[in-house]
Amino acid sequence: MEQNTVYTAVQTGLCSGCGVCKGICPKGSISWERKNGLYTPQVNEELCVHCGVCASVCPGLGHRYEPAKSAAETVTGPVLACYNAWSLDAALRHVSASGGVVSTLIQKLLADGAYDGAFCLDSYDYREQLKTRLYTAEDAAAHWSASNAPKSRYLPVSHENAVAYMKEHRSARLIFVGTACAVRGLQAAMNKLNLDRGQYLFIGLFCDKVFNYNVISYFNDTYSPDSPLEALHFKNKESGGWPGDMKFFPKEGEPFYRPLADRMKAKAYFMPERCLYCIDKLNACADISLGDNYTGKDASKLGSNSVIIRTPAGESAWAVARSLLEIHEIGIGEIQNAQAIDYRLNNLYYGDLKAKTIDDHLDLNTGVPREKDSASFRSAMKADLKKLQAGAFYDTNPSVLYRQIEKDNKAPDPLVKFIKRCFNFLKRKLRRIAKNS
Ligand SMILES: Cc1cc2nc3c(=O)[nH]c(=O)nc-3n(C[C@H](O)[C@H](O)[C@H](O)COP(=O)(O)OP(=O)(O)OC[C@H]3O[C@@H](n4cnc5c(N)ncnc54)[C@H](O)[C@@H]3O)c2cc1C
Repeated sequence: MEQNTVYTAVQTGLCSGCGVCKGICPKGSISWERKNGLYTPQVNEELCVHCGVCASVCPGLGHRYEPAKSAAETVTGPVLACYNAWSLDAALRHVSASGGVVSTLIQKLLADGAYDGAFCLDSYDYREQLKTRLYTAEDAAAHWSASNAPKSRYLPVSHENAVAYMKEHRSARLIFVGTACAVRGLQAAMNKLNLDRGQYLFIGLFCDKVFNYNVISYFNDTYSPDSPLEALHFKNKESGGWPGDMKFFPKEGEPFYRPLADRMKAKAYFMPERCLYCIDKLNACADISLGDNYTGKDASKLGSNSVIIRTPAGESAWAVARSLLEIHEIGIGEIQNAQAIDYRLNNLYYGDLKAKTIDDHLDLNTGVPREKDSASFRSAMKADLKKLQAGAFYDTNPSVLYRQIEKDNKAPDPLVKFIKRCFNFLKRKLRRIAKNS
């Protein structure tokens, strides 16, 4: 196995599709291949000189944390202040994912000339791979909503254009928006290219997990079998307010909504494997991290954000935009609880089990104190991987998914359940005896 290219990440299921490797490759030797619902980088052996740059910036191969007392504290990252907030621009808030704070920050920071541009998305059409593109102050002022910038796309996004731009425009002051893997990849590229951290603002989205692109075919087949989907809003407030139902735009016929529950049901099956091993839900390396406000405080059907200000650059950006926001102070503990950080930490042990299958020295979450025995997660992880496999094959063999869903929804036979319980009890007992002897 190639050790010094992203091939390692692709072959082992650790690629998150962030595109940083493609943007930074000095030889242009990386292209995309869609396989199992994911766009993954392929290295052209004729062009590759094995310089190792792509592997060195790949966030799939591991995340590093500043050590703290507990696992929860470590993954929470630095915190200067926390708020619940929303945009005072009612129209913007309405078309946004949560409270419209990201859109407001970007528009204001560009309008004030604090940054030269921002890399964001501009489409709700998922028939092709999503890639961020550059917005300038003029774009953001005139076309933000019309250009389809707001809202969340729960799919892997390539940041290759952002990296290529950083490389070409070394003094440009830029804003990046992304999930934790993207932020980490972009920062690794910034370091590799010896760029100045001070000229960039990283707006980090909280992220539970993304889907893979097969989910779009599944939604299309299930909810719009007679017409291809031209666009999809993963959540839209028109139908019942925040958090919002999915809105489908078929090529023929009227747009229609499907309940949020349909999106949640698909989550277990359509996900890059890499998300199973990620614990950076709160985007610890960003300057400002934001998500939906699930704290139960300052909640509204119009939508609101929970916000963590992490760095002095984040503080300055916040100060610029605060007159355009309604803001309420909140504690970090409330955000941790609302985002179920303790539960998310189970991925830490999945990550350890996975790493052992690749290389004894690999640590996917360096610096995080371990508080549980990873072996106790083995069967849960196996079950989760089985579901993911069903979704990964959806484009080539959809029946695997339907069989898996049927199996998951079948009430367990009481006898089998009882035998399984006895077996697990015995296993735990034996493990304890072995440990004590
Ligand atoms: C994959 C994913 C998972 C998430 N999981 C959670 C979660 O578990 N808990 C939680 O509280 N919040 C989560 N969020 C964040 C939440 O959905 C909102 O994006 C966030 O609250 C910002 O809302 P807003 O109204 O301020 O954003 P808006 O004003 O609507 O702006 C959103 C901005 O994000 C950009 N964007 C959208 N999708 C992506 C993407 N995939 N990659 C890069 N940029 C993107 C858009 O271009 C736009 O600039 C997730 C977001 C994503 C993309």
